[in-house]
Amino acid sequence: MVSLSGGQDSGTCLFWAQSQYEHVEAVSLDYGQRHRIELDCATRLADIAGVTHTVLQLGSAFRQIGSSSLTDESIDSRWDATGTGNHYAARHGLPSSFVPGRNVVLLGYGAAHAVVRGATTLITGVCSTDEAGYPDCRITFIRAYENALREALAEPGFQITAPLLDKTKSETWKLAHQLGCVNEIIEHTHSCYHGDRNNRFDWGYGCGQCPACTTRATGWTENATTRRQSHRENTEKIRRQL
Ligand SMILES: [Zn+2]
Repeated sequence: MVSLSGGQDSGTCLFWAQSQYEHVEAVSLDYGQRHRIELDCATRLADIAGVTHTVLQLGSAFRQIGSSSLTDESIDSRWDATGTGNHYAARHGLPSSFVPGRNVVLLGYGAAHAVVRGATTLITGVCSTDEAGYPDCRITFIRAYENALREALAEPGFQITAPLLDKTKSETWKLAHQLGCVNEIIEHTHSCYHGDRNNRFDWGYGCGQCPACTTRATGWTENATTRRQSHRENTEKIRRQL
């Protein structure tokens, strides 16, 4: 079962899962995200991959809790907003895009849905190398929560698999190239904090300036440079052999 948000990381995980498992399904959570485009992307990706996709309705709980730029329009989403304001993330030195409890809820519902559907593996795109440094994307949380869910669901074999945990954004682009899904990731995933679909870059759609766009774009450029270098080296090697 893939926890599919509609972003680059979980989208890549969907295609990775298809390369690893015989049967794959996807689950998304509608938690009142400021931008519905992410959920539309998740639905589109699941459709392209040909997997059963369920969108669980959480209602407005995260909006009611607030304290994040992703669920509250009054909070600045710029990177340098870290440490300013009186919201939860600022008090903890985290980016304002931090949604308190998001992965507790996302992975909790995802796990419940997974085991009911007969799956004992939940695949998540969490990534600990992001500049964001969200505490619920770290290995310590993932392993502790995996143990808690095993107990809670009476499934001793339940696993949370996070294939991108230690990957940089550049490496995640590389994986998409290897999986042959790079065009799907460009066209049908969404990262931009402003929900911008008007501007199309090499790496996909977005405002091009928010932290999420910047991270995605930098990773794209780094990977493209590496690909060009290895292409050049391979060409030279072949030339020498001729
Ligand atoms: Zn953006």
